[in-house]
Amino acid sequence: MPTIPQDDAFVLNEVKNACKNIFKCMQCGVCSGSCPSGRHTSLNIRKLVRKAAKTADVLHDEQLWMCTTCYNCQERCPRNIDIVDAVLMIRKVAVHEGIMHSEHRKVSELLLEHGHAVPIDKDNREKRIKLGLNELPETVHKYAEELEEVKILLTSCGFDRLLNRAGKKDAGSEEI
Ligand code: SF4
Ligand code: SF4
Repeated sequence: MPTIPQDDAFVLNEVKNACKNIFKCMQCGVCSGSCPSGRHTSLNIRKLVRKAAKTADVLHDEQLWMCTTCYNCQERCPRNIDIVDAVLMIRKVAVHEGIMHSEHRKVSELLLEHGHAVPIDKDNREKRIKLGLNELPETVHKYAEELEEVKILLTSCGFDRLLNRAGKKDAGSEEI
């Protein structure tokens, strides 16, 4: 049996802990056939599951970030594999290793800066009014004075440190 490098062993262990039955995958393809994201992105969840069971290279795979966590695949898998839970766990490991998709990083930085992942603009304000909603949602948009509290919470749980890890890399980038 080939020796697993340290990184691989660590990731495989994390995956095993999060999703003990991922190794039961029989590569039937029901998951990828059920995947709405796969119709529009590079995501092939069947291949990603196979990669996750084999190698820590999955940490650097851009496909990891194309899943919308709709759970279609997990509900239909004939082997009852916790596919999405494994994807989320692998993302968690990746982020702790400083690896994140650039778009996810941008959204996270918006959250840190504005206390909201999607800053509201003129268009959104107008749409909300047309729908009969308040112009501003019940968030820091409406209660701007609470932004500092949100920042304290995000800092306290280490979210800012995760985003600013030394040697951070974008998933799928050349340097990885
Ligand atoms: S549906 Fe389940 S068993 Fe089939 S390829 Fe996907 S993860 Fe593997
Ligand atoms: S949870 Fe992710 S991988 Fe599964 S069907 Fe939805 S988008 Fe595809």
